[in-house]
Amino acid sequence: MIPKVGISEGKEPLFYNESHHAWREEVRKFVSKEIAPFVEEWEEAGEFPRELYKKAADVGLMGMGYDEKYGGTTEGIDIFHGIVTAEEFAHGCGGVSASLLSHNIAIPLIQSLGTEEQKEKFIPPVVRGEKIAALAMTEPSGGSDVASLKTKAVRKGDHFIVNGSKMFITSGMRADFYVIACRTGGPGTSGISAIVVEKGTPGFTQTPLKKMGWLSSDTAALYFDDVRVPVENLIGGENSGWMGIMSNFSQERLGLAAGMNAYSQICIDEAVAWAKDRKTFGKPLIENQVIRHKLAEMSRKVNATKAYMELLTWKVMNGEQPIADLALLKVQASKTMEYCAREAMQILGGAGYLKANSGPGKVERIYREVRVNAIGGGSEEIMLDLASRQLGF
Ligand SMILES: Cc1cc2nc3c(=O)[nH]c(=O)nc-3n(C[C@H](O)[C@H](O)[C@H](O)COP(=O)(O)OP(=O)(O)OC[C@H]3O[C@@H](n4cnc5c(N)ncnc54)[C@H](O)[C@@H]3O)c2cc1C
Repeated sequence: MIPKVGISEGKEPLFYNESHHAWREEVRKFVSKEIAPFVEEWEEAGEFPRELYKKAADVGLMGMGYDEKYGGTTEGIDIFHGIVTAEEFAHGCGGVSASLLSHNIAIPLIQSLGTEEQKEKFIPPVVRGEKIAALAMTEPSGGSDVASLKTKAVRKGDHFIVNGSKMFITSGMRADFYVIACRTGGPGTSGISAIVVEKGTPGFTQTPLKKMGWLSSDTAALYFDDVRVPVENLIGGENSGWMGIMSNFSQERLGLAAGMNAYSQICIDEAVAWAKDRKTFGKPLIENQVIRHKLAEMSRKVNATKAYMELLTWKVMNGEQPIADLALLKVQASKTMEYCAREAMQILGGAGYLKANSGPGKVERIYREVRVNAIGGGSEEIMLDLASRQLGF
């Protein structure tokens, strides 16, 4: 039976149980104490302290959803715990979330396809907050058409010799190891393997990249020049990396949508507070119908996105793979975030244009974070195209 959907903050718990509520409290405490007070400082510095990984590990954030055997927590955990994490992390900032949690796009592949030895070697240090993991798929020649990636790994005895480059990689400078997608076979997805390259391997270098948003996130270009990687670092069989890479897309899209919608809600909250306080033409801004309608429109889109996201989370949790809907959800969430950031910025007027040390700040930062959400993790165009094909258009 499909449960009733809707906004989950009311009397009915709907998709959320006591465990989700308790987890929300835990993450909220962590974000408000360890991240929120430092956002502006870290955004300005272009990084956050490495000790944050250890602090996040201590409250169970790094191991959430990973096998207990490797130090993680799975007992009583479902995808809604991930949704809660993404929503609460929006009260920090996108840059910190992207880098601190970059292992959530890298480790699932090792957990699902890796050997016992690989899991024992790579997962526990990440769960303990001692090592950082990154996923490197995108290349300078393009990220949307992953099937055409060019980075090559050629087997020579008990090593792969890796040559090529990767672009826009989150945790690109700081990661201790990188799960890279590379070509070991013929053209297309059937020639792609996933291999772990460890920091410090001769011939492997990184260059930092400056960005318009996610300023505290570490983003880099990676270069592989005759890098010798032991065959033990091949995850899954040779030429079978694509299935592993794809298998995490559903949860990644749900998490991204949850995060984007939480940023949209923050835009509404900031705009409401400002509109109640700010007086123009002798009365509070919020008393103008045109302003209230903007807020109502923003709420309408956020509520619709939330209901869609929660229903799809429930479906995925129950074994369904609604590929077209997940792609549409990601677009729905980024367009909602874009709309809400724009309208909130408009309601805040000139103040919205100021950074946090000179004005309210949050909306200005979220406005700059919109684009990476509309491009990364499957761009709007690629998501709409995927959905169209799945729906037979
Ligand atoms: C801050 C940041 C962090 C990132 N982190 C990571 C990471 O950790 N790991 C990783 O692997 N990647 C990462 N990415 C890369 C991201 O996934 C890619 O940017 C994304 O997949 C798009 O690839 P591209 O930038 O090469 O654009 P392209 O593929 O060159 O596309 C350019 C534009 O054309 C559109 N387009 C492309 N093909 C078509 C088509 N057939 N029809 C219509 N429109 C089309 C796209 O939607 C896009 O708008 C990150 C990106 C950013 C900006």
